[in-house]
Amino acid sequence: MDNVIRQYHHLRAEIDQQVDRLLTLHSCYLQCQKQCTDCCMNLTVWPVEFFAIAQDLRSAGIKPAFDEQAACGFLKEGLCQIYPFRPLICRTHGLPLVYLDEQDDGPVHCVTFCRKNFAAPEAAAIAFGPDNTLDMDTVNETLARLHLAFCKAGGPIGDGEQGRMALAHLVEHLL
Ligand code: SF4
Repeated sequence: MDNVIRQYHHLRAEIDQQVDRLLTLHSCYLQCQKQCTDCCMNLTVWPVEFFAIAQDLRSAGIKPAFDEQAACGFLKEGLCQIYPFRPLICRTHGLPLVYLDEQDDGPVHCVTFCRKNFAAPEAAAIAFGPDNTLDMDTVNETLARLHLAFCKAGGPIGDGEQGRMALAHLVEHLL
């Protein structure tokens, strides 16, 4: 299982690199800032991601509290308590993300981003494509492969949909 967790860490570093590149590329259109929590919500993750984050938090001596009232329970005064180790999806918040969407006349590439970003009139002229977006299908496929490898190595299965785990369970896991 440790090997799969290492692969997860490798994927996380790759995503961080791609995210940094997009943050620089789109800096003049992004409104993302500290204490904006618009994209935050309670999440479920694959067990491989859950246990990688749990391991990281334990190593760093971080024991987050969970606020039932917050959009994501890990928010405290507008800040993410698990920020350095937040899930991959959280690292992409606000950025232009591409997904293949099945529509009536076939699959179509859709781009999503926070509505506060790219709101400037001149942003309407941006042609989104592979060079200035993050392909989330590739990210999710890689994560799904790691999930299968983690299960094959004897990793625990979650009790959520398709064996996913609520991130909220980190709190009791770290007790
Ligand atoms: S884990 Fe952190 S970044 Fe992700 S949704 Fe929760 S508070 Fe937001």
